[in-house]
Amino acid sequence: MTARLPGGHVYLHRLAPTPLAPVQLEPDGPSIWAKLEFLNPSGSTKDRIARHILEKAWREGRISQGCTVIEASSGSTSIAMALACAQMGLRFIAVMPEGVSNERVLMIRAYGGEIRLTPGAEGIRGSIRETERLAAELDGFLPRQFTNPENAAAHAGSTAREILDQIPGGTVDAVVSGVGTGGTLVGLWRGVCAAGCDAIPVLARPVEIGPGENPEIECCSFSCRIPGVMESISTIFQPGAMDRLITVEVRDDVAIEVTRELMKRGFPVGPSSGLNFAAAIDVAGRLGPAAQVVTVFPDRMERYFTTDLFKPMRG
Ligand code: PMP
Repeated sequence: MTARLPGGHVYLHRLAPTPLAPVQLEPDGPSIWAKLEFLNPSGSTKDRIARHILEKAWREGRISQGCTVIEASSGSTSIAMALACAQMGLRFIAVMPEGVSNERVLMIRAYGGEIRLTPGAEGIRGSIRETERLAAELDGFLPRQFTNPENAAAHAGSTAREILDQIPGGTVDAVVSGVGTGGTLVGLWRGVCAAGCDAIPVLARPVEIGPGENPEIECCSFSCRIPGVMESISTIFQPGAMDRLITVEVRDDVAIEVTRELMKRGFPVGPSSGLNFAAAIDVAGRLGPAAQVVTVFPDRMERYFTTDLFKPMRG
């Protein structure tokens, strides 16, 4: 489908719904409904928030062709923003801490995006400060994934709606996700509850067992091995506001092992998918076989060639 944005700029396609697959790793283990978000165009679930935030800003006249978009992220969000900006004719600057993996930088540049590095010691907070400075200097637009309520709204309005259309009977008993910004977990939970499901929100939290061999920059106090899932600087994820929130802790070595199992079954996923799946299995065990437990597989394995995940494959 071709969509036309106000101002005449045309981009080529709407995001297609991603499949919702029943995934069972053990013959007598529970089956989990997994949303295959790695099939989005930039390779992660973050295409949803990039498109939603930028299209809304465009409709409201806050951005138009040639405007500059500036975002702090060393992970999937910058890659998704770079792709969306390429499609919409926007300039994109990714601000990230020094030390980010080269693959990420190359992908952003391939979409025409620019990179600004901030001191590694300052982490993502230093990058966020730099986006504010650059936005003032360049009159740029800040999507602000960590504080923008449209992040969760994107998932409530698209990811959750697709799940409700795809799952048998349109009922969801639990939604399970690791939290970076919290947009996925909060949006999924709100979206399915708004449709009348009495769903339990489940936070999948990695527990560090050993240091990663080649830590990614999103590394946090939880685990260096599960990039993207981090100690939150988010205002979107407010645990106190989530009725019946359950936290399931998953050892990071278990999350990595489950990720490798998923890859062996033909799911080309990154470590946060193993984390989410392991937590979902735990919850499904507590809720019983009739419960429909939904989780997401957020991104693709190709982003992790240089990390612990691929250690056994390097030989
Ligand atoms: N998995 C990966 C690979 C991610 O990059 C992120 C977000 N940084 C998440 C999970 C968590 O998603 P959210 O930001 O919606 O909480």
